[in-house]
Amino acid sequence: MTFRGRSLGNSLWPYLCVVTLGLGAPVRPLRGQSERKVTKLAEGVYEIEHKNLNLGVQSSNTTVIIGDRQVFVVDAGFMPSVAREDIAQIRQWTDKPVSFVLTTHFHNDHNFANRAYMDAFPAATFIATVEAKKDMDRYGPTTELREKQSNIENQQALDSGKDGEGKPLTEERKARIREYLAHRGPIMEEIAKTQFQSATLAFDHDFSIDLGNREVRVMFLGRGNTAGDAQAYLPKERIVMAGDIVGYPLTYMYDGYPSEWIQTLDKLAQLDATAIVPGHGPVLHDKTHIYLVRDMLKSAVDQVNDALGKSGHGKFASFDEIKGSLDLTPFRQRFAGNNKELGAEFDNEAAALLGLTYQEISLR
Ligand SMILES: [Zn+2]
Repeated sequence: MTFRGRSLGNSLWPYLCVVTLGLGAPVRPLRGQSERKVTKLAEGVYEIEHKNLNLGVQSSNTTVIIGDRQVFVVDAGFMPSVAREDIAQIRQWTDKPVSFVLTTHFHNDHNFANRAYMDAFPAATFIATVEAKKDMDRYGPTTELREKQSNIENQQALDSGKDGEGKPLTEERKARIREYLAHRGPIMEEIAKTQFQSATLAFDHDFSIDLGNREVRVMFLGRGNTAGDAQAYLPKERIVMAGDIVGYPLTYMYDGYPSEWIQTLDKLAQLDATAIVPGHGPVLHDKTHIYLVRDMLKSAVDQVNDALGKSGHGKFASFDEIKGSLDLTPFRQRFAGNNKELGAEFDNEAAALLGLTYQEISLR
């Protein structure tokens, strides 16, 4: 599967859907974690970080917002079985029903588990932006098909000893793929028996819900990680659920809109918030990381603009011709520190971002 130029074999990002991950899945999880973790953000507001499913395959963070009458959940996550643990936990916290489940964007690590909430709370409303719902309707029901294709391609890579780009696999990579495939069974089984639940309410204007002494603002700050990323904001508690427009330590950048994303992050940073829940990773308590992601996007856009300005637009200069002049390595240390695997992942991401930026700027 390819989402806007992202192809199997060169991606280490395992969570768009398990499909693309086998070949590059890291030996140890780079993000996410080995155990489930719950963080209390305010009275009745909890963030759940899920444990990785298989070799770094992640579920998104889930945030639970409890009002006097109703409960609002941000991002159900990937596997319904994992969401059922969350639902059991929610029932310990409150006897109020989950009335709203917001999907921040269409990537299925954030919404495949909607099914579990629909089964447990049939009266719930599943919210997404108009654009996200379109993509959920398009890609959600075909998840199993892509997952199967991923298995086939990973197996073919093992059999041929070459990755999707024809590069020979190292023994280490082969071992990763073998281990990855060996643990696919339960995930495949669960996907096969899950009927995808898309959004039931699509919005194109920001709105506010009162859960009973608790206001949740549902917002679209602009395109970023996808065409339809939603955010949820608690103005009184000063908490924002950002979805994947910002991730920690790295932000998924294979599917986005780099130029607009810069402004979207500026708007996010302008919100009065002391806790920012990223789509993946721990809660952020200041805006440094938002600015860092924004600055990297801005650098990519500026550099590609500059290179195309010198050589003519995409009709005259291919990405291969200009890519030698583009360089995001000044950001490497700030995102990845001295972690070798994270650094390798950063390199893949930076290359993908530059390619995406070229597409966005040259093909308009
Ligand atoms: Zn995600």
